Amino acid sequence: MGISVETVKTDAFSMDYVRFGSGKRTFVILPGLSVQSVMGARGAVAQAYDALTREFTVYLFDRRKELPAAYTVADMADDTAAAMRALGLKDVSLFGASQGGMIAQYIAIAHPDLIETLILGSTTARLDASQFGIFDRWIDLAKRGDAEGLYLAFGEAVYPKAFFEKNRNAFAALAKGVTGGELSRFTLLAESMRGFDVRDRLKEIACPVLVLGAKDDAVLAPDAAQMYADAFGGREDCTIYEYDGYGHAAFDMAPDYRERMLRFLTRPLALRAHHGMCMRFFEGRGYSEAFTDRMRTVIATLSERPQTPVRLTASTDAICLRCPNNAGGTCTSSEKVRRYDEAVLSLCDLKAGDELPYAAFAERVKARILDQGLRETVCGDCEWDGVCTLAPHNP
Ligand code: SF4
Repeated sequence: MGISVETVKTDAFSMDYVRFGSGKRTFVILPGLSVQSVMGARGAVAQAYDALTREFTVYLFDRRKELPAAYTVADMADDTAAAMRALGLKDVSLFGASQGGMIAQYIAIAHPDLIETLILGSTTARLDASQFGIFDRWIDLAKRGDAEGLYLAFGEAVYPKAFFEKNRNAFAALAKGVTGGELSRFTLLAESMRGFDVRDRLKEIACPVLVLGAKDDAVLAPDAAQMYADAFGGREDCTIYEYDGYGHAAFDMAPDYRERMLRFLTRPLALRAHHGMCMRFFEGRGYSEAFTDRMRTVIATLSERPQTPVRLTASTDAICLRCPNNAGGTCTSSEKVRRYDEAVLSLCDLKAGDELPYAAFAERVKARILDQGLRETVCGDCEWDGVCTLAPHNP
């Protein structure tokens, strides 16, 4: 496949990336730590992610070219976010595998305006000293210039035993082309993870999250799934799934990995029931610029494709994503807005979890609430009530 490597430049650095697919939505892959740049494997990556390319334009990012002497996962996240901004990407569905997942978590925390959905593959929210031993061994091999030893140790830890044994010679062969510069770069990138810990900040992640772990992951924290369950458990928009039998490289090995991602990414749009009314009266004002932007995007999408399936909810939704009142997936006015949701659901004879085309939901809101003059009984105490006494602006 003729995919060429492109380079994005910012004031501070340049970063290679490849782009493939032609979908309207944006999917970004942040790969894990590797001995050589993933750009060399771009054809294989494009093939692996082919199922996503109708719905998404896919970007695969490398790390920045010129690495500072001391570099952290947080720095990598800031640089990758800067690269995404330089390319004009927004509403990104972000997938990070292994070290890429660590970077992805930081991006979702520090640059939430860029991210629409987060997928974490075989990663962790913390690497303590006892878990860093495997990286210390890799770093030692790299520093000693033992590329073959590094490739073999890496392959053995990352892939299932049978796969590694079958491909042992291929791993050794890969080492032949490794340069001293690549080994130094590997050392810096591996060192960047020392002390990584975002457990206390996971609750700041407000976007939907899919966590794909591996029960027999020999590289990262064995309690990673529990960390994510503690942070995201109970959230309707978050799913945690653990593979069995594929090791750390489940993202390369599990045959249904991309399908599972695609199902999550294309699931019905979560919509708070009362937002079925807010969208009708929206005239461009809201809680913040990011919020109004998001509201415009959702309204435009649903106007353009009114048959889009929506899943009704009384929790945070696709519109709440950019709201300053959304505290890690919970609305700070939850009592009031839940009351509105429940009233809308009841008047429309629907319930949370129901899935239907947006047009059908919008028609019920119109016929059973607005046309009956019942809007005020639902949300008359809302701070935006004055806006909604005028005629609806949107279909
Ligand atoms: S105020 Fe609450 S319900 Fe309304 S958009 Fe913000 S987070 Fe969502």
